[in-house]
Amino acid sequence: MTPSEQIKDIFQKLPTDKQNQLLKDLRSLRNKSLTSIEDSSIVECPYCKQTDIFKNGKHKGTQRYKCKSCNRNFKATTGKAFYGIKKRVKFDEYKSIMIKEGLLPLKQMSSRLGISHQTAFDWRHKILSSINRETENFNGITEIDDLWFLYSQKGRQGLKYSRKRGGSKRKGDNDFQVKMLVTMDRKQSTDLSVVRIGRLKSSDIKRKVGEKISKTATLVSDKHSSISAFAKQNNIEHINFKASDHIADSQHHVQTVNNLASRIKGKLNHTLRGVSTKYLQNYSNWFQFYESNKNSNDIVAEVDKIISKNHDAWNVFTNTENFYKRFIKEYSKRTYRCPTKRTWQNQLKDTMTLANLFIY
Ligand SMILES: [Zn+2]
Repeated sequence: MTPSEQIKDIFQKLPTDKQNQLLKDLRSLRNKSLTSIEDSSIVECPYCKQTDIFKNGKHKGTQRYKCKSCNRNFKATTGKAFYGIKKRVKFDEYKSIMIKEGLLPLKQMSSRLGISHQTAFDWRHKILSSINRETENFNGITEIDDLWFLYSQKGRQGLKYSRKRGGSKRKGDNDFQVKMLVTMDRKQSTDLSVVRIGRLKSSDIKRKVGEKISKTATLVSDKHSSISAFAKQNNIEHINFKASDHIADSQHHVQTVNNLASRIKGKLNHTLRGVSTKYLQNYSNWFQFYESNKNSNDIVAEVDKIISKNHDAWNVFTNTENFYKRFIKEYSKRTYRCPTKRTWQNQLKDTMTLANLFIY
C-alpha cells in the first residue's frame, strides 16, 4: 500500500466527527505550507524592488516585512495574485484545474469548488494578470502579421445586447476589428500584442516590438504598408509578398505565424466562444505562456513560480478597467462607455506607476 492508500484506509475507520476534525486540520496544514512557500519566495520589496528587506514582526499570525529603502511594510502576498484571498487551498485547487483542464466555464468552476460566480471570475483574472510577457529579442527570419478579433464587450453591464458583440463581420480595417500584432522568429521567440482597433500602424510595431527586433533580422510579411514603413524607418531587411500568395519562397513565409494564429483563434473564438476585448491581452498572454511551456513536465510549478514572483498582478488586475479605458481612448475611434464601477481597497492610483504597468 502507498502512504496515501494507508492514510485513506485509516481515515475510513475513524468516526464521523473525527473525520471532520481531521479534514479541517489537514486544510489548515496545507494553508500553512502554502504560506511558508510564499514567505520563502520573498526577495525584494514589492514597491521599490530593492532587496534590502527585513522581517518586521507578525500581525495576526502573518509575517510582516519592511523595506530599508522606502520604509514601507508589506506581506509575502502584497501585490500578488493571491493577495487578500482567504480560501487559499481552494484557490490553489482552482489554479491546478485551470492549468490541467484549461479555462472551463465559470459556472462549472463555481459549482466544483463551492465558490461564487464572482469569485470564480476574479480568480481566473487574477491568475491571468500574473502572466507577464517576457519577449526575447527577434533574430534572423522574423515573421510579422496582424490578426483581428471581433470587438467584444462580453460581460459588460448596462449595454443593450446588440452592443455587446461587434455587429459587423465585414472584412478590412474597421472599428469592429481589434488588431493583434504577432511577431515570431524561427527560434520561437514570440510576441502577441493587442495594439489597436482599426488599421495597424507602423507606430504600433515600433511601440510593441521595435526595440526587440535585431538590426540584422529579416522581416517577412504580406504587403502591409505599415510593416513596410516600419522596416524602412528602421533599416531592417524586409521581404514581402501578396497576401494571396501566402509565401515568397520556401524560406520566406509566414506559416509559423499562421499556424499560431489558427490555434489562438480556435482557443479564444471557439473554445471560449469569444472573449471581451478588455481581457483579450490577458487571455493571449495565458495562451502564449502555454505555447512556450507545452513541453515542460511540471507546468503547475512554472505557473507557481510566476505567480509567487509577480507583485504587479494585483495592480494589473484591479486596474484592468483603467487600462481598457486608456486603450479605447488612445488606440481606437470608439467611444468608451458604461465603465464598471467596481473598485478595490488598496487599489493603486499613482499615475506614474500605473503608466509603467499599462499593458498596451
Ligand atoms: Zn521598498
